Amino acid sequence: MEKILVSRCLLGHPVRYDGGAHGPFGWLQRWQAEGRVVALCPEVAGGLPTPRPAAEIPGGQGAEVLAGRVPVRTIDGSDVTAAFVRGAGLALQLVAAEGIRYAVLKARSPSCGNHENYDGSFSGRKVKGEGVTAAALRQAGVRVFNEDQLEALAALLQQADD
Ligand code: SF4
Repeated sequence: MEKILVSRCLLGHPVRYDGGAHGPFGWLQRWQAEGRVVALCPEVAGGLPTPRPAAEIPGGQGAEVLAGRVPVRTIDGSDVTAAFVRGAGLALQLVAAEGIRYAVLKARSPSCGNHENYDGSFSGRKVKGEGVTAAALRQAGVRVFNEDQLEALAALLQQADD
């Protein structure tokens, strides 16, 4: 049975930067009951507290952060790149240890977003891009979905389990 790495905040854990959480999501509850879910909050695992200042990637490209070309900055200007990269590294360790090929990560997060991100101006402007952990997982061959794409993942899992 395929396991799935899931953003902890999507499972109702209050680990968002503002202390909030998301859900419940029916598919995630079902996959949890099946024992498939491996939960991770890359930012907390990387050493950041909750609550914490909002952070964005200038340009919105997590791969640029992993390549060392762009930092992750908080709204008050602190450089939190090291914690974000550490969290991405822990996600990679986890998927390798558990043989995970699929992830469900929170949309539009500077760690977890899989196809859209804020642009670093803290103005609400979005760009095509991905978070630091999402980029690391994609580069490692993990298929990354978000909470709006659960039906698509459910269809894939059905095939994978057959
Ligand atoms: Fe943690 Fe990712 Fe959720 Fe942000 S989006 S709170 S980094 S799990």
